[in-house]
Amino acid sequence: MAKVLVIADIKQGMLKGGTAELLSKAKAIGAETAVAAIGSNIESLTPDLVNAGSDTQYIADDPGLELFSAGPYASCVVDAAKQFGANLIWFAFSENGKAVAPRVAAQLDAACATEITDVILEGDQIEVIRPAITNKVMQRVKINTEQLVAVVRAGAFEAAEGITGTENVVKLSIPAADLKAVIKEILTDASGEIDLADADVVISVGRGAKDQAGVDLVKELADDLSAGFGSSRAMVDGGFMAHNKQVGQTGKIVAPTLYMAIGISGAIQHLAGMTGSKVILAVNKDPESPIFNVADYGIVGDLFEVVPILREEIKKIRS
Ligand SMILES: Cc1cc2nc3c(=O)[nH]c(=O)nc-3n(C[C@H](O)[C@H](O)[C@H](O)COP(=O)(O)OP(=O)(O)OC[C@H]3O[C@@H](n4cnc5c(N)ncnc54)[C@H](O)[C@@H]3O)c2cc1C
Repeated sequence: MAKVLVIADIKQGMLKGGTAELLSKAKAIGAETAVAAIGSNIESLTPDLVNAGSDTQYIADDPGLELFSAGPYASCVVDAAKQFGANLIWFAFSENGKAVAPRVAAQLDAACATEITDVILEGDQIEVIRPAITNKVMQRVKINTEQLVAVVRAGAFEAAEGITGTENVVKLSIPAADLKAVIKEILTDASGEIDLADADVVISVGRGAKDQAGVDLVKELADDLSAGFGSSRAMVDGGFMAHNKQVGQTGKIVAPTLYMAIGISGAIQHLAGMTGSKVILAVNKDPESPIFNVADYGIVGDLFEVVPILREEIKKIRS
């Protein structure tokens, strides 16, 4: 039987939804499930870890682990993987996951695959599906090691309804601090704006908005919906949006329930960051724009006319 160890995605003391998505997939393929939770003051998350679908919880809880540090975090994951006898070790898509996964793979002499969208098990043979060449092709990769460390693409798996696990807590020993790289402080975006990676609705603005007034107009729609506000690279290069708001190949990868592309053409590099969204709505004045090839709903029109109408209609529905 396959054994899947999922690394809990914890941010500011909260368990993120990606953990339940990965555990649901593990259960769906008939695997035994465990979770590794690493941080400070996180033991209280045990019921959440169980409810997310884990049958064993490996917990490393120590003030020294409060600030993320790839070395000690990797040591905890390796320890949990060895104790559990995991043959699949899955990280949800995050900067931390991408930093730790290769270290874990190197220490376990395991294969490492990033951005996987599916896993296929045939007996002991593991195969994964992942996009390549900016999403132009999907690769089916045969893994030639017994263990696989993988980072799962955002939105690849869905959390199943009514899934649950069993409480079986194992405390991990706390590794020594990494003296080669001491993390003193982690600076986060202090703007108070919704993080694109966490947002259920993301609205992105593109060059069609022309200037700051156009950006502000689209931002009002995002504010109405309490949505994350992103953009294409054109608006970052134009100095209208901060780089951490860029969605795409060289920006953030998002997979919200609803993604709205406003005045964005749909260049392949932009699509690389948002096609995992559940529903895509595009507003573009050019009916031939490639964004309509991936959109579930399309509005052909001038965004300066369409956005105010959308805002008005949303207000009506809400009232
Ligand atoms: C190596 C590399 C990496 C890249 N990485 C990224 C990335 O991560 N993310 C990213 O986004 N791009 C990235 N790009 C850039 C990408 O190729 C495109 O240039 C960029 O996405 C275009 O942004 P855009 O759609 O806003 O602008 P444009 O392509 O100029 O499209 C503007 C759209 O707005 C429409 N429009 C104009 N006026 C209106 C109006 N009044 N109302 C409605 N619609 C209107 C037009 O019809 C057009 O479709 C990368 C490029 C390279 C080479």
